[in-house]
Amino acid sequence: GEIFTTDHPDHVALHLDDKLAPGAYAYLIVIDGVGLICTCLWRKQKKSERFLNETIAFYDENYPGLRKESIKRVGGKGDFSLPESYIHDGRYFVGEAGGMQDFMWGFGMRYAITSGVLAANDILGKMDYESELKKRVLPTIRTSISNRWLLNRVGDRTFKKICMNWYKDQQKRQDGLPYIAKLFRPDWKRKVVFSLFGRRMLQKKVLENGRVVHRLPFRGALPRDNWQPSQAAVAVGEKWRVTRRGGGTTSFSDEEE
Ligand SMILES: Cc1cc2nc3c(=O)[nH]c(=O)nc-3n(C[C@H](O)[C@H](O)[C@H](O)COP(=O)(O)OP(=O)(O)OC[C@H]3O[C@@H](n4cnc5c(N)ncnc54)[C@H](O)[C@@H]3O)c2cc1C
Repeated sequence: GEIFTTDHPDHVALHLDDKLAPGAYAYLIVIDGVGLICTCLWRKQKKSERFLNETIAFYDENYPGLRKESIKRVGGKGDFSLPESYIHDGRYFVGEAGGMQDFMWGFGMRYAITSGVLAANDILGKMDYESELKKRVLPTIRTSISNRWLLNRVGDRTFKKICMNWYKDQQKRQDGLPYIAKLFRPDWKRKVVFSLFGRRMLQKKVLENGRVVHRLPFRGALPRDNWQPSQAAVAVGEKWRVTRRGGGTTSFSDEEE
């Protein structure tokens, strides 16, 4: 993603576009004059910078009032895995270290806080961490694995439908959360998808510390991920190179892929 300053009012936009954010999502957030445009790639790509440049070019075109002064580019690699146990060698694994993350979109703040509280209560002798997690948290994570399996099977047509329905629901209720919250809730359909397909995506792995996890392999690129950058995206890349020479920093490189 790219962090910038702007005089644009506070704004949050989520963007499903299989070209700019293969299998995942891109977004724009502006809070108190600081903005972030980000794209997530759920399929392994070479030269990942082209996705960010193209995404920024998209927002430049669609938000002409977004006057940006770039500061920094940030990025990193994530990993999704479901452990067989959450306590190992007397250590409690909470949050992302414990594999508690939404497999569809990578969200994990609520899981981190919830699992931290549950672990603390176990240490205080008030509950059993493993069984509470399996009861309260694991069903939602399994739902997210089903969601990921389902989203892997669709493209822009379905993304557009989801966005249009979400937008209409938000207009009606004046609240965007209820529509999307449904997607994260366990239901019988996603339970079936998990049992039949979701868990088969995962590969068993023994980590260096002996923990056994079931890891989601990073998908490879699809033929449709091979495209030439637009002129606007090339210009965005050039502009960033100038910013970088003037002191802009980047926290990742394409060599990391
Ligand atoms: C760009 C981005 C956007 C995101 N947006 C959202 C969002 O909108 N909503 C959401 O729910 N989630 C989001 N997430 C995911 C969310 O940030 C994580 O799931 C969540 O922060 C995990 O919390 P955690 O405490 O488990 O791990 P972390 O927040 O990663 O905290 C782990 C801490 O441990 C420290 N650490 C690591 N090793 C050691 C060591 N050996 N000794 C001491 N300290 C160590 C690290 O420096 C770090 O500070 C986002 C993630 C990214 C990268």
